[in-house]
This record gives sequence, structure tokens and C-alpha cells, in this order.
Amino acid sequence: MKKNRITDLVRKNIQKLTPYSSARSEFKGTAEVFLDANENPFDTGYNRYPDPLQLKLKAKIAALKGVPIENIFLGNGSDEAIDLLIRIFCEPSKDHILTLPPTYGMYKVSAAISDIEIKTVPLNKQFQPRVNRILKAANAHSKILFLCSPNNPTGNSFDFKRMKRLLEGFKGIVVVDEAYIDFAEQASCTTLLKKYPNLVVMQTFSKAWGLAGIRLGMAFASKEIIGYFNKVKPPYNVNQLTQEAAMRSLNKGKKQQKWLKMILDERAVLQKELKKLPYVQKVYPTDANFILVKMDNPNEMYKYLVKQKIIVRNRSTVLLCDGCLRITVGTKEENKRLLAALKKR
Ligand SMILES: *Cc1c(COP(=O)(O)O)cnc(C)c1O
Repeated sequence: MKKNRITDLVRKNIQKLTPYSSARSEFKGTAEVFLDANENPFDTGYNRYPDPLQLKLKAKIAALKGVPIENIFLGNGSDEAIDLLIRIFCEPSKDHILTLPPTYGMYKVSAAISDIEIKTVPLNKQFQPRVNRILKAANAHSKILFLCSPNNPTGNSFDFKRMKRLLEGFKGIVVVDEAYIDFAEQASCTTLLKKYPNLVVMQTFSKAWGLAGIRLGMAFASKEIIGYFNKVKPPYNVNQLTQEAAMRSLNKGKKQQKWLKMILDERAVLQKELKKLPYVQKVYPTDANFILVKMDNPNEMYKYLVKQKIIVRNRSTVLLCDGCLRITVGTKEENKRLLAALKKR
């Protein structure tokens, strides 16, 4: 099947766009006196604009992920990457995106903000993409297909073969949102980047890295797509505090590995204990740091837990998730408190 060239998928106004040229990116070489950016000359530690391309941080991430720097975009959370992708590729009131509910809510909200329509092809009962239906639903205006694997709120990874068939058959951009990949057995789709120029893989520092507060998301893609990200993004989209905090955390990888193991161990404990509760109908398998649980009277249970000062996510009104609460794996103490409250019911 003949693929569209990436540029043919990009909105015309973005193809033609002359990006903002910041003071710091116009200058090359070494200098000692910086009088070009209207900064305050007195050293606060933060008086200078940060590196717009975050090259030091990207070098660290490149080494960790095995993806070259030129194939990395960093954003103000993955949410910024989602928004930029929609603005790069989708023409308002003409193009649309495809999503596979039940899934992460931001794709829809981001599309709506840009006045982009959304077509949905629900997952099957095993929460897997229905490849033939998706490809049938797609047309020349289907610019982006969002795959969330492991999927939020169901917790499962998508079958690799199905994702590959979608990458082969879908003519637009395929985004694989891997926010929870560090908790998964399945390998990252970054291994497919060389083969598929229309693939974008998103990851984040918000979950396994324990840095939701610094707002740092990653997108891995072909050089061409990364070029468009850089053209459209606000020049200093990742601030210096965030870049520094991420560097510190990347230098302390051992601690993160320890947390990860604790979360995975606790996940197994929670799964086992939840299955024992008489009103629990199903504990879905999970590849993420949360568990989808189907039970009798989920709304009452949700309210009861709130009274116990324990907040979980009520997903019982979401397509294919009736009866379900989504429970994030906490610390050992937090999980114990949750289980004690659940057992009293
Ligand atoms: C939590 C989550 C994210 C993370 O978004 P950030 O903006 O990086 O915090 C992305 N995708 C999914 C599916 C998520 O659940």
C-alpha cells in the first residue's frame, strides 16, 4: 500500500509556517556577554531563557531509550504533544481523528478545542482494537489514529500484531500512547520507529518516574515529524526547573527501579485480595499501575470510599466499563487501608 508522505498529511498553513526565531537559536558559537534576549543580567539561577531544544536532557533520554536525539520531542506533559499533533495534522471542520473507546479522555478534549471531529471504533470485549473495522472507518480525512497501550482505563496492552497491522494499513499518523509502558511486560513500540515513518510513540515522566508535577512528556517519531513539532511548539515549552528536575531524576535511576518493583509487587497483592471480595465480579488483567475492577453497585462503593477519605476513579458510566472502578496502586500502607475499607463492606 502506498503511504502518504508525512508532509502531505500536514496542514497547509503549518507547511508554510515560518517559526518564531528566538534570540538564543539565532546565535551559534561561543560567547561570554549575552545582550540579545532582554534578560535580566543578575544571576538568580533562572535569569536566562532555557535551551529551547533541551539538548542535554534529550541526550540522557536518547541513551536510556535507545532513540536518537533527532527523533525526540519533549513537551509540557504528553498533553502538549497530543495538542500539537492535532494542530499539525488536522484541518478544523475538515479532518478528524480516530480513537478507540474506552480510552484516555484528552484525545477527545484536545480535538474538540481545535474544532476537530472524532470518529470512534470501540475496542472488542477483550479491550483489543478491531483492526478491520478501524481501517474500514478511515478515509483521507482520518489524520491521526490514537492507540493507548497499555490502555487507560482498561489497563491492558494492545496486541503487537494488531498494532503492526494498523501501522501498515492506516494512511495517517498512528500515535501509540505509552504512558504506562514502564509497568508493562510488553516491549515499547519505539522499536518500530525505523520501519514506520508515520508512527509517533508517546511516553511521560508523570507515572513511573513519579514526576507528574514537573509536566514533562516525550514523543518519539521520524525526524520529519519531530521537525514539525519543533516548528509549532512554543519556543520555551519546557522550562528550566523541569529540565533540571528530570536530569536529577535520570541520574538516580536506581531509586526509580526500586519504586517500580514495589508498585508491581503491590499490584499483585491488590489483584489477589480484590478477587476475594464477594461483590467483585471481575479484576481485569493489567499492564499498568492501576487496576480496573468490576463489582456490584460501583456508585455506592465509590461514595462509601469517599466517606472513608479514599478516592478511586469511578468509570462505571464509561463504554464497556459498566460496574467498574479504576484503582491506582498506592504505597503498601495506602493499599492496606483501601483493602481494609473494602473488606468492611
Ligand atoms: C497519565 C496519562 C498521560 C500523561 O499525561 P502527561 O500530560 O504527560 O501527564 C498520557 N496518556 C495517558 C493515557 C495517561 O493516562
